[in-house]
Amino acid sequence: MHIDILTLFPPMVESFFTSSIMSRAVERKLVSYNIVNFRDFASDRHRTCDDVPYGGGAGMVLKPEPLYAALESIGAGDKRVIFPSPSGKLFTQSYAEELSREENLVFICGHYEGLDQRVIDTYVDDEISIGDYVLSSGESATTVIIDAIYRLLDGVINSESLADESFSSSLLEYPQYTRPERYCTKSVPDVLLSGHHERIATWRVFRKLEKTMLSRPEVLAQASLDLEERRRLIDLINEIKG
Ligand code: SAH
Repeated sequence: MHIDILTLFPPMVESFFTSSIMSRAVERKLVSYNIVNFRDFASDRHRTCDDVPYGGGAGMVLKPEPLYAALESIGAGDKRVIFPSPSGKLFTQSYAEELSREENLVFICGHYEGLDQRVIDTYVDDEISIGDYVLSSGESATTVIIDAIYRLLDGVINSESLADESFSSSLLEYPQYTRPERYCTKSVPDVLLSGHHERIATWRVFRKLEKTMLSRPEVLAQASLDLEERRRLIDLINEIKG
């Protein structure tokens, strides 16, 4: 997958591509990226990228000319262009799965009050919100979206890790433990030390249901549960009723 990112603040996204799992994916050529500072495409002496909004109001708006030129330079017309924005469609795991099937993605990082609408109308395919809150710029939202997408690409992380994750089966993940077995008076649940695979699997289903019910009941309401999960849900409800 190739990713172009248009930003006024390249260092905010650079570190994401040069650290941890992403840097390994880049090294192994599973992901390539190109960070474009669209200020380089501003043609006036001061390299201006923003201006006051027509019709009045607070803040500044990103001008169309530098963005059009930057988008043309990377052939954005033939690529899926994403504008992270609080007024976009809500980002979800299934949205990440859909985007992970693209060969090319372009991200436009907004700033100030946002972009001139003509940039959106001409180039943007997806306006995506990462949640119902407002950030000061699009760089962190862009890396959140890319992070959720690239880790789904073949070979980036082990497919077993993906299979059991939160949302992969529409439930949240069960609690995880590692060594030591006892730490600060707290012990790892006995069942995980039993080596009994069936009991461990049942315990995990039970904990997934419990976690989802307590943290995100609306996710549980929409989950499509298999027979085992439905049975454990009934056990859980009976346990709660006492
Ligand atoms: N005036 C805008 C907010 C601009 S925030 C409004 O009220 O909708 C500046 C930039 O931060 C946006 O252009 C967008 O790129 C980014 N941003 C802020 N919150 C975001 C969110 N929840 N999801 C995705 N991007 C966001």
